[in-house]
Amino acid sequence: MSLIDSFGRTISYLRVSVTDRCNLKCLYCRVGDERISVENHELLSLEELARLIEIFSVLGIEKIRLTGGEPLLRRHLVNLIEKLTANPHLREVSLSTNAVLLERYANELQQAGVRRVNISLDSLNPETFAKITRGGQLEVVLRGIRAAVAAGLHPVKVNMVVMGGVNDTEIPAMVAFAKENGLILRFIETMPIGKAGMQMDASYMPAAEILTRVQAGMGGDSVWTTGTDLVGNGPANYFCHTPSGTTVGIISAKSRNFCEKCNRMRLTSRGELVFCLGNSGRMDLKDPMRSGASNDQLRELILHAVQKKPQGHQFHHEENKNPNHAMSGLGG
Ligand code: SAM
Repeated sequence: MSLIDSFGRTISYLRVSVTDRCNLKCLYCRVGDERISVENHELLSLEELARLIEIFSVLGIEKIRLTGGEPLLRRHLVNLIEKLTANPHLREVSLSTNAVLLERYANELQQAGVRRVNISLDSLNPETFAKITRGGQLEVVLRGIRAAVAAGLHPVKVNMVVMGGVNDTEIPAMVAFAKENGLILRFIETMPIGKAGMQMDASYMPAAEILTRVQAGMGGDSVWTTGTDLVGNGPANYFCHTPSGTTVGIISAKSRNFCEKCNRMRLTSRGELVFCLGNSGRMDLKDPMRSGASNDQLRELILHAVQKKPQGHQFHHEENKNPNHAMSGLGG
């Protein structure tokens, strides 16, 4: 079975936020004084998550990415992963993490069947890293990255959100770091999502400028090939520096969106199905589930929800600048 939206796109990928909580407070994701106080009963239990994901998988979802908040803060996450990797409908179960707890969990994740991990890393300078994450320790994250590679997780992708005047001078150093460590590097434009994301306009750096910086770092006259499918079929545009084989991806949600090929939806930790990052529309699945909806009834709701997926990002629409539409709950 396939999930097809009203624009003919096949939806095969679900990103699942397993918690809003995080052990870092990145500038673009959280405002300083924000308290994340989701009561435990508001969060989907691991059993509820497993049930919904099973229903999604029967409908045509093939890939699941567990995210958050910080997914490794969710207790017994590995139990959920084991259930998911045993589901024959799912081709892939992956994880997005800030790597703070990865040194502890990398082997367990690998044994539970996770292969791909995406790790946020915005700076290689301890002070800048602490400033961006509001107190994070770079060394802990680097140990987490090394543990992921040593555990055989592959590919390990590193995501750097580029902010002008904050970490943009580190672009060449990050390219070198990724190459030395066998990581796939992706640069991300800041997105105006939630209160914190909307405050990032002043440091927004468009993809074209990021690429210029990458090229300058590698020698301006070198040969590059481009393509979205050099490494994966996600939203990044990849650029390969042919002489050295260095490949970097750039995710340009704002300057050049990739909505026509969008294959994803998001399930929040509170059980809402979010149709698009750049649109605050959502459908609650938790209350119907807790009120006794059968699997068939939940399936009907999901089929209905998929038809509401908008054609493209609408970051600029006033009604979508909803401060509650925050990355921490949406599963960025
Ligand atoms: N804690 C995990 C992590 O650090 O990867 C998963 C959640 S985090 C919200 C997922 C991704 O969202 C990270 O790569 C982060 O950099 C990105 N992100 C969050 N807010 C963003 C924003 N306003 N603009 C661009 N990327 C953002």
